[in-house]
Amino acid sequence: MPTDLHPDSIAAQALGWVDETTRAVTPPIHLSSTYLRDPDNQYRSGRIYARADNPAFDQAEAVIRALEGGAQAMLFASGMAAATAVFQALAPGDHVLAPKVMYWSLRNWLLNFATHWRLQVELVDMADLDAVRAALRPGATKLVWVETPANPLWTITDIAAVAQLAHGAGAKLAVDSTVATPLLTRPIEHGADLVMHAATKYLNGHSDLIAGVLVTRADDPFWQRLRSIRAQLGGTLGSFEAWLLTRGLRTLHLRVQRACESAQRIAEHFEHHPLVEAVLYPGLPACAGHAVAKRQMRGGFGGMLSIRVKGGDQGGEAAAIATAANVKLWNRATSLGGTESLVEHRASVEGAGTPAPPDLLRLSVGIEDCGDLIADLEQALRAAPR
Ligand SMILES: *Cc1c(COP(=O)(O)O)cnc(C)c1O
Repeated sequence: MPTDLHPDSIAAQALGWVDETTRAVTPPIHLSSTYLRDPDNQYRSGRIYARADNPAFDQAEAVIRALEGGAQAMLFASGMAAATAVFQALAPGDHVLAPKVMYWSLRNWLLNFATHWRLQVELVDMADLDAVRAALRPGATKLVWVETPANPLWTITDIAAVAQLAHGAGAKLAVDSTVATPLLTRPIEHGADLVMHAATKYLNGHSDLIAGVLVTRADDPFWQRLRSIRAQLGGTLGSFEAWLLTRGLRTLHLRVQRACESAQRIAEHFEHHPLVEAVLYPGLPACAGHAVAKRQMRGGFGGMLSIRVKGGDQGGEAAAIATAANVKLWNRATSLGGTESLVEHRASVEGAGTPAPPDLLRLSVGIEDCGDLIADLEQALRAAPR
């Protein structure tokens, strides 16, 4: 394929890959766990054993690397496997910064497991650059982890500003860009060293697999360490999942564009709604992160938003849970980034210590008709007892 193509063309043709043997335009599914050694004891194919590497990964990794503008990409068995690998590549005693508002499972793992390996984990408000500057310990801080927009308040972090601060202190910057996707933000362009996606979400987009991916700015010793971690700890994706992911990537641009348009419309519709306390969405000028998001994101502000439901005598929490109970088109489920729209009462999922207010419903906007989505939320809000 020509170089310098628009991301939509890269995605649609999955980089134009064709099987050399059969001329098939979609790849076969490689299932082999092992590869023949040559008679002279060499492995000229470059492949030995499928826990370390697998031709099934090549196409998806190449497409994601191209979309992110990175040097290399690496698939993992889940988003969590990809994210935790980055922290596992650090040394005991290293200091890391992570956001106060972030994907809940990773926050839990950092506080309850990473600390047992003597990582010094410090949670900071990543939207507050003075707080980030104050928390950095030059020489000791080895990694700054950010997520933008961040679950479940859709807080925006200025990647370029945090990259400059992190690098100034000798730390790497890694960005969980799951919600932005490479179409809306390319963190490496803004100075990030590593990009992580839960490929489970938008990259695959069909709620039918669990996968993760890391992309690196440079093929450096840290990246080689990450390769060893995947091969040795074995958080390796299955061949069929890698194939499904390549299939899903081909429509990424259409799904993300539709989700962004609908999320923006839904946010604007409910922003001043009498049954809604607040709408959290970076596409609204009233949201704190809007100005940075406008600079950092292009083509839309993502398909994720949250609404805070107004309560009557029984309070906002009861009204939010009742609203979720009343939806007919939206699905009451966790996760995000699929073709079907999802609604979830986040405080119930996250429990004690959550930054999610009790009246908050997290919405993952799918690709249904936006009018149908708005009408369903309208009826669900009205049917909630107050
Ligand atoms: C889902 C998700 C993860 C974890 O990915 P899994 O594939 O579920 O392990 C990490 N970060 C964000 C923002 C997510 O939405």
